[in-house]
Amino acid sequence: MLSVFDIFKIGIGPSSSHTVGPMRIALRFLNEAASAGVLEKAARVAVDLHGSLALTGLGHGTDKAVMLGLMGYAPDKTDPDEADAAVGDVREQKRLRLHGGREIAFDPAKDIDFRTDIIPELHSNEMALRLLDADGAPLFEQTYYSIGGGFISTAEQLKTTSEGSFKAHHPHARMNRFSSADELMAICREKNLQVHDVILGNEDALRPRVETERMLDGIWAAMRDCIERGLRTEGRLPGGLNVKRRAPALYRKLSDVPLANEREQLFDWLNVYAMAVNEENAAGGRVVTAPTNGAAGIIPAVLKHYCAQDEVDIGHIRIFLLTAAGIGMLYKQRASISGAEMGCQGEVGVACSMAAGALAAVWGGEPTQVEHAAEIGMEHNLGLTCDPVGGLVQIPCIERNAIGAVKAVNAARLALRASDEHKVSLDQVIEAMRQTGMDMSRKYKETSEGGLAVNVVEC
Ligand code: SF4
Repeated sequence: MLSVFDIFKIGIGPSSSHTVGPMRIALRFLNEAASAGVLEKAARVAVDLHGSLALTGLGHGTDKAVMLGLMGYAPDKTDPDEADAAVGDVREQKRLRLHGGREIAFDPAKDIDFRTDIIPELHSNEMALRLLDADGAPLFEQTYYSIGGGFISTAEQLKTTSEGSFKAHHPHARMNRFSSADELMAICREKNLQVHDVILGNEDALRPRVETERMLDGIWAAMRDCIERGLRTEGRLPGGLNVKRRAPALYRKLSDVPLANEREQLFDWLNVYAMAVNEENAAGGRVVTAPTNGAAGIIPAVLKHYCAQDEVDIGHIRIFLLTAAGIGMLYKQRASISGAEMGCQGEVGVACSMAAGALAAVWGGEPTQVEHAAEIGMEHNLGLTCDPVGGLVQIPCIERNAIGAVKAVNAARLALRASDEHKVSLDQVIEAMRQTGMDMSRKYKETSEGGLAVNVVEC
């Protein structure tokens, strides 16, 4: 089984697959080289990025992430300002101190190669690293994959998973295991539990309850801080598209006229919170994968609006996060949450589905209504492509999170107003998403080779 904290992870923007994953890969590579006893002899490290990592890696900050990982920065402990300064030093001095090793010459322009000509077979986000000695002889090499949501894998790990997708393993006899929504519903029915009870019970098998609650509250605190930074920070986003941050001005407008049209303001609040998170993400700020960085705004926006608007309701926040994570696990286990594999339906679509189910739970929905809400949240995102302009996680990503948050609320309402019966199950819609993702042209899977990316002129 996956844990809640495999789904929600604190990291830095702008991308879980192209920033957080490569950072973790670089760090893991050096740790493995150290275990193999060759790190001390290293005089050079060469990193090749293939597939989507090569095609959109520059816009997604992959080169920066690689350097940070090589220097020993872990995504959850990295201060974005400190990271910028450290990378700036490497670029200027063309030298880098390897984590656990010595200082070596390192020219990002030469030592990180964006191999756009290589389209990997196993997974689109492939990264090959080589450690060389002073004579240029190879000491250690390994190929890894960044498979969405900050998860990483070797080829062997990818090949040996039964569903062709990554699984994290937390083997424990006391866990209620499920690998489909049907199985999750059966557990709820047989044991008279809500979805969040099942997920919390599984976390109890891993650590004391009080520790899980502390970690959940930490995830919410990181989401809330991200919203607040996004609401305060003015300016333009990096990367060359010259996109202006919109959340601060919209927030001021809403705060100045709090009682202007209440119905429309529901959308405005969801929009402003989601955009605040995704503008922070686009700027390389501290973000929680939910389940990815590109889709990181939907869950915090819905959570903030419905569980922490005037007063904070920590009980509901925990129910929301546990339920959302349970739904996210189903997508991760049965399909994928990688834009490079599924298009944006695997990122924003999944986040919308998670938020819809979680909101239905907070509103008192039974497990079957939670399942229904999550199903609706995905059904109307099927086929959503990933075509970021300039390879940046900005257009359409920022607005798309705002739309996804509104859609999630509507999905929860539709499910709670519906009769018990519904024709499409969550398992069916997850399978439909998986098949659609497999059939989708690679132009629309985080390569910036189609859609908006080729129709919007960069300036
Ligand atoms: S379009 Fe969607 S999947 Fe693609 S980078 Fe943006 S948020 Fe991620």
